[in-house]
Order: sequence, then structure tokens, then C-alpha cells
Amino acid sequence: MKSIALIAHDGKKGELVEFVTRFRNFFAQVPTIATQTTGGKLREHGIIVETVASGPKGGDAQIASRITEGKIAGVIFFRDPMGKHPHEPDINMLLRLCDVYNIPLATNPATAELIARNIS
Ligand code: PGA
Repeated sequence: MKSIALIAHDGKKGELVEFVTRFRNFFAQVPTIATQTTGGKLREHGIIVETVASGPKGGDAQIASRITEGKIAGVIFFRDPMGKHPHEPDINMLLRLCDVYNIPLATNPATAELIARNIS
């Protein structure tokens, strides 16, 4: 079964935890994969998630690679629109590959809700 990727920048991690908790039933039914720090926060709240490296250390690139392998059903990436990030090239690559492979991509809770309600 394909995974849902979960990523949030520091200023948005709380929002992601809130979102996943709200849709706990959905996330209990699908495998999830997260960048390291995001995954750690989710685990603190009892959410089981596979993790890759932290975003700035290549985690976004690892998730992008999973997209090319056909292993990702959707990406929920709560970016912080107010922040600058050293790994901007990796972030852009991930977003681009979502478009290349036609993968549902949500960068805010409103769109993520559409994914959670429509992917099964
Ligand atoms: P993190 O990475 O979950 O390890 O903080 C997220 C990112 O900045 O892409």
C-alpha cells in the first residue's frame, strides 16, 4: 500500500499534529512516512509513522525519491511561508516531482482535509 508523506516546517509542526490527530481514523488506515523531526512530534502524540532523515539533511529528497518509485499516495507538507530554509532546493524538487508524477499535494490544512477525505 502506498504511503502518505507528512512533513512540516518548525512553525507548522503543531498544526500538523493537530491535523493528523483530527483525522486519526484515516491515518490509522494508511501507512505514513515523515521527515525525522516531524515524525518525532507525531510519535509523541501516539501516531505511528515511518521516518526518513530530517528535512535539512535530505529527508525531503528521500521522500521525493519514494515518489519516483511509485510508493507515495499523497504529500501533506505544511510549509512555513514566513521562513527561509537552507534546503529550499530539496523542497522545490519534492514539490516539482509531485507535479511530474501527479501526486496529490497539500501545503495547508484546508487542502490536506480534501486529501484525507478522498484517498482510501
Ligand atoms: P523535519 O524536516 O521534519 O526534520 O523538521 C522538515 C523540513 O524542514 O523539510
